[in-house]
Amino acid sequence: MCPLCELKTIIHTYDDSDPRWIIMDCMNCILPMVVWREHTMDISEKDSFEMEEALRKVAECKFMASEGSDFEYHIDKVQREIPDHLHWHARPKGWVFPAHRREMAADALKNQSDV
Ligand SMILES: [Zn+2]
Ligand SMILES: [Zn+2]
Repeated sequence: MCPLCELKTIIHTYDDSDPRWIIMDCMNCILPMVVWREHTMDISEKDSFEMEEALRKVAECKFMASEGSDFEYHIDKVQREIPDHLHWHARPKGWVFPAHRREMAADALKNQSDV
């Protein structure tokens, strides 16, 4: 079981209407993230295309509502922590991981394992 199969900590869900994936806030980055519902990296080109479209729709709603229509973001397909379960982030341009959020995430994980 990997953390993306379990999805124990969901802060906010944007869209779980598609049976293939769920779009939610990443518990570490607090940014929109799409997670394929199966533990695999192997999906068809069509699924991959549609999943990216869905994530872009969420990202545009979220970022452009607060930052304006010239706001830039990109779909980050680099999977740093969990390389074998498909998930992508939508990141604002110039985004860096905030140090205090990294600590928050570490604390959240610690608290979970105490239970
Ligand atoms: Zn998994
Ligand atoms: Zn993340």
